[in-house]
Amino acid sequence: MNFEAEFIDNVRFIRRAYYAITNQSRVKKKLVKVQEKLPDCFPLAIVNFSIDYELFWGNAFDHGTSMSEEKRIHQASIARSNSFSFYALLEEVKMNCTWSVVGKLMDPDKAPSLELQFSPPWSDINWYQKPDADITTYEAYEFIKLLATSPYLEILSHGFAHIDYADLSVTKQMASEDLKIAKELLHEFASTEKAFFYPCNKVKYEEVAYALGYRVTRGSDNHWHISKNELIKTPIGFWISPAMLSLNDAKRLVDIGIKNKSFIHPWMHLIELNMKADDLERFYRPLFLYIQAQEKAGNLEIITFGNIEKRISNMNDN
Ligand SMILES: [Zn+2]
Repeated sequence: MNFEAEFIDNVRFIRRAYYAITNQSRVKKKLVKVQEKLPDCFPLAIVNFSIDYELFWGNAFDHGTSMSEEKRIHQASIARSNSFSFYALLEEVKMNCTWSVVGKLMDPDKAPSLELQFSPPWSDINWYQKPDADITTYEAYEFIKLLATSPYLEILSHGFAHIDYADLSVTKQMASEDLKIAKELLHEFASTEKAFFYPCNKVKYEEVAYALGYRVTRGSDNHWHISKNELIKTPIGFWISPAMLSLNDAKRLVDIGIKNKSFIHPWMHLIELNMKADDLERFYRPLFLYIQAQEKAGNLEIITFGNIEKRISNMNDN
């Protein structure tokens, strides 16, 4: 028996119980995320599991200021060392998964021209500067190349440098440049150039994304926005982590999503994967098998964002 995993499980159980007692049940909050009924072009509940892949370039905003370089490298190192294990599990069980990838991972030396760089007043770092001698800012290119060879994985843009599009300092031109650079860098590997996920789910300048050919994004509320000739926005979905959600609760979310004929959209970052807790075997593998079994039983459809876009656009055209 794996005692360390057992121990972490117990600690997590106590923490979840605490949240339930203090009436902040994470599960309840997530239940509202699988309530909204799907547009008519989807006869069954749909599931999209996704990973935001950022390594050093994510999470730079930390309690009103920018996160220290040390902390960013530390977190990125964990995410990086988890990457291949998670990929291997997805391949082994043939689970479809969407990876939203920041362009910086393809070329950490690239930056927009000075006047179009993200430089918010709350941050004193150069947003585009990669740290010296850091393993988290290279090798990602090779890994993304590997992801792109998989028939089960969808790769789409998460912007270039994980800037906050809704930050007051960000102009339309800055947003456009960030999207454009990312599009060029990911062109070779993106499964769809119609889908893009906003960093931190902060939706703004949708017309800029639309002008660059993007047609669908993960939205920032619990509803579908599917007007013709506008960026389609799906419901935001929910953050999934075995630290905050038991396997049974995760399965329950799937069940309720099926019952409501809703969009079941869990998303995560690889920093949240705890190998010491044996998360792959104790949480993700059984959850993926459960979702696949539900699909086989005809209760839901596992879907890509590319396909979501196609179905809604066809519906809008008819
Ligand atoms: Zn992100």
